[in-house]
Amino acid sequence: MKPANTLLEQTGTTIFTVMSALSLQHGAINLGQGFPDTEGPADIVQAAADALRDHRNQYPPLTGLPELKSAVAAASQRFYGLEIDPAAGVCVTSGATEAITACLMALLNPGDEAILIEPLYDTYLPVVKMLGATARLVRLEPPGWELPRAVLAAAFSPKTKLLLLNSPMNPTGKVFTPDELGFIAGLLTQHDAYAVCDEVYEHLVFPPARHIPLMTLPGMAARTLRIGSAGKTFSLTGWKVGYVSGPANLISLTAKAHQNLTFTTAPNLQRAVALGLAKPDDYFAGLAGALMAQRDILDTGLKRLGFITLPTDGSYFITADITPLSFPGDDVDFCRAITTQAGVAAIPVSAFYAGAAPRNYVRFAFCKQPDVLREALARLENWRAGKS
Ligand code: PMP
Ligand code: GLN
Repeated sequence: MKPANTLLEQTGTTIFTVMSALSLQHGAINLGQGFPDTEGPADIVQAAADALRDHRNQYPPLTGLPELKSAVAAASQRFYGLEIDPAAGVCVTSGATEAITACLMALLNPGDEAILIEPLYDTYLPVVKMLGATARLVRLEPPGWELPRAVLAAAFSPKTKLLLLNSPMNPTGKVFTPDELGFIAGLLTQHDAYAVCDEVYEHLVFPPARHIPLMTLPGMAARTLRIGSAGKTFSLTGWKVGYVSGPANLISLTAKAHQNLTFTTAPNLQRAVALGLAKPDDYFAGLAGALMAQRDILDTGLKRLGFITLPTDGSYFITADITPLSFPGDDVDFCRAITTQAGVAAIPVSAFYAGAAPRNYVRFAFCKQPDVLREALARLENWRAGKS
């Protein structure tokens, strides 16, 4: 038989699925794959359930239901002062995962270069490669994850088509600073390149840090596609409702990619998410506040156990250095050991690198109820003490 697609033949199953399966098998508390253990707002869930029964279950429009597109535009105005055209400037997708692929399809030709920032979310690189483009990787270094400005500037070439920016960033929890964003914007303008901004954690940012969309910087609105995710904003990760906003010419191309990927997204979920995005400001502040308290429980507990935790200003995740624990193995071995022996799952940070990676960091998700986090810490403590 002829070989099938070579790139996919070489691609493994995502680390999130691998670790969740191991976690389930061992009855572990899953601090690996990032998903909350409480559901999002009951009124939104009820609205989605009600919407199934009122006879609007056929294909929604290609770029999304008008009420959701209007809600995305209104939220962009309310939170960031962005002027988004609700009709031509928004495309609803089946999750941010689809949105990322659709945006990359909209912009990249074979032979183009895309700048990706490492550590990087696992779908970015395979999609860039599938499109026949070349990735230029720019690496942030722990513990500070500062933007290496000279390295970034040197990564641009006449072939650079776009930069993919994830802020707040998975797995580092980094929120890019106004200064860093200004530097990036300058390079994009200088090299006439686009930005694809994965901002799925836009509302999961912990004061005093503040999320600033790159799109709000001077000159950026015309060259930026900005991605959000209802899964993250409403703690309903299984819903897979994403949205891309941007200039009409780029959204129309994103929509053409979307029509070949999924074409549309479940109408009841779109309607419920539209209600969610109109929630008052205190919902959004409350979401971040609760998550920040959970971050602090896990951070304090991990430090007490001897991990060196790195600061996290946003997202669901803490990165922890395992070096002081003197574990005889790397991050992958460590995550397997705590999942199978301690009953707590985590993700090896080396999974977020394309090339040679640091081997001493693991990622813990703190989007779990306080008691669950405390139980996970107790399990880790027992394991360290040789009791499990
Ligand atoms: N981007 C990043 C950085 C993520 O962490 C995730 C994880 N969920 C996604 C995109 C995908 O979002 P969605 O579930 O809406 O597809
Ligand atoms: N974004 C989630 C994480 O980083 C996982 C999503 C997935 O499993 N595809 O943990």
